[in-house]
Amino acid sequence: MRKRVLNQPIDTFTLDEVVFFAKMALSNPKQLKIVTLNPEMIVNAMKNIELQAAINNANLIVPDGTGIVWAFKTLNKNDLAKIERVPGIELAEKILESANELKKRVAIFGSTRTIIEKAAAIMQNKYPDIIIVKTTDGYHGIEKDLQVAEEIADENPDLILVALGSPRQEIWINKHSDFFPKSILIGIGGSLDVWAGKIKRAPRWFRDNNLEWFYRVVSQPKRTIRILKSLPQFVWMVFKSSLQIKQDF
Ligand code: UDP
Repeated sequence: MRKRVLNQPIDTFTLDEVVFFAKMALSNPKQLKIVTLNPEMIVNAMKNIELQAAINNANLIVPDGTGIVWAFKTLNKNDLAKIERVPGIELAEKILESANELKKRVAIFGSTRTIIEKAAAIMQNKYPDIIIVKTTDGYHGIEKDLQVAEEIADENPDLILVALGSPRQEIWINKHSDFFPKSILIGIGGSLDVWAGKIKRAPRWFRDNNLEWFYRVVSQPKRTIRILKSLPQFVWMVFKSSLQIKQDF
């Protein structure tokens, strides 16, 4: 169900519900643009109109991160809508499972040549019936973005996994979506690095206790430094907004 958090749209579906929508879009091909929203993206969207447009134009915007769930619950205390985290990597794996059942065509765009080849081999082994029609690495200038879109479109993929990191992946999807009227498009951040074994996902205990973010803070210091630029602003925005709500009552 479409709701709002800090003026951004957010869909409060469970992981299984989102997977169901994706499966429908695969069985009965139609375009489905999925954004996995996190606090950093909310802060960046305030000053990046291309990212904001990409969020606005998505068909499904899922809360990928404890921060979004916390903000939603803090700011919508009277809203009975259940909200749960929909981790992008798990969603991508479940969509791949559906693509496997339906023997669909998959394109992967992003990360380095080595990582993408390793991840593609692992995915092909895990989902033997998907057809990987195109792998394109993500390290070229943005002047080649259009050409990449044309080359991917030539292969008629049903599912396009875009691993360029945010906001590049969301913006690329939004700008080139006309090439893919019948595909699912989803930005998957660093998922290829995880599948290829370069980065480890948090052990289950951390995930079950909503502490995946903490594991990533410790295990990926570079990413932590990047996120620290936006996190205080995000918390401040939630705080300010909650005071506003109290005053309005
Ligand atoms: N990446 C890329 N091209 C670039 C910058 C990054 O393909 O110009 C890839 C990078 O190799 C990584 C992915 O984008 O696999 C996501 O990186 P990030 O760590 O930013 O992801 P997140 O923090 O969103 O998981």
